Amino acid sequence: MNDLQPISLPGLDTRRPLAIAGPCSAETEEQVLETARQLAAEGFRIFRAGLWKPRTKPGGFEGVGAEGLAWLRRVKSETGMYVATEVATRDHVTAALAGGVDLLWIGARTAANPFAMQEIADALRGRDVPVLVKNPVSPDLELWVGAVERIYNAGIRRLGVIHRGFTSIDKSLYRNHPMWSIPIELHRRLPQLPIFCDPSHIGGKRELVAPLSQQAMDLGFDGLIVESHCHPDTAWSDKAQQVTPQALAYICRNLVIREASVSTESLSELRAEIDKLDDRLLELLTHRMRVSVEIGRYKKEHGMPVLQAARYEELLARRAAQAVELGMDREFMRTVLQAIHEESIRQQLSVTGE
Ligand code: PEP
Ligand code: MN
Repeated sequence: MNDLQPISLPGLDTRRPLAIAGPCSAETEEQVLETARQLAAEGFRIFRAGLWKPRTKPGGFEGVGAEGLAWLRRVKSETGMYVATEVATRDHVTAALAGGVDLLWIGARTAANPFAMQEIADALRGRDVPVLVKNPVSPDLELWVGAVERIYNAGIRRLGVIHRGFTSIDKSLYRNHPMWSIPIELHRRLPQLPIFCDPSHIGGKRELVAPLSQQAMDLGFDGLIVESHCHPDTAWSDKAQQVTPQALAYICRNLVIREASVSTESLSELRAEIDKLDDRLLELLTHRMRVSVEIGRYKKEHGMPVLQAARYEELLARRAAQAVELGMDREFMRTVLQAIHEESIRQQLSVTGE
């Protein structure tokens, strides 16, 4: 995908972050226009509003549909903003493009469905419009890449993605778990693909919009798509995560944008140190595995089982506590130890099977 182009629209500032802002759903003409006027007054240039809303359960507000296209046209003519909406079917694409929508995004539920993605791609063939593909609800990078490829193969070159987090059983902090390593890996594989962050759907609560936006900027994301409503508490969908246009402007003004491309001398020194530490880590891990193999042989000779659950539990608890004392994260340490332990067991099993 070397010929991808940035997500640009005539007259738009290309500085990071490119911000797309607007309500989760278009509810009424007044709500759409009032929100857009306030966002435009704060300097936002691209307005989002969902017209067709995919809802988890039937009976929720499923969007105003094509009727809202006329409201978006009023937003354009009265505020000069560009407008964006979500498309999930061929008919949505046709209606949105005929209705003057400037940028399309594909939702997380749709991105998880290759048939729906292909249908949308076919409807986009021959059209020149910027398209953003949200990550599928499940943490499946290949599915995300596949969805992007379908749109690319249809000829869309102003193509980007939106990281909106992944469904997880752990709902303690986030509505959708960020799992930053997945968009980071996507960026490693497709460095030219612009990445937006949707802090609203990751966090699910308005207090998390600012810290998540900052994290996205620190990771070098290109843009943000944020839900903003003139009266968030009365929003017909996703009210807990919407912020007022003024709050959003405040959040954006306070973002610290670090330039990704400047590599200072001290940074290269630190990188060299990391490289050395990684060399040592690798040596240590290799050494540890060799000792595990020895233990495997011993267990085999003495007819002992490979997995000794009590010792493993004790080791895990002790090392996790030690990690916390050293200022590291307990869960991180458990994950590392579990991975090492799994490999160690695999090695021991290969000895006992000799
Ligand atoms: C939305 O952007 O309002 C939306 C429905 O998001 P997602 O597809 O990420 O759930
Ligand atoms: Mn929403």
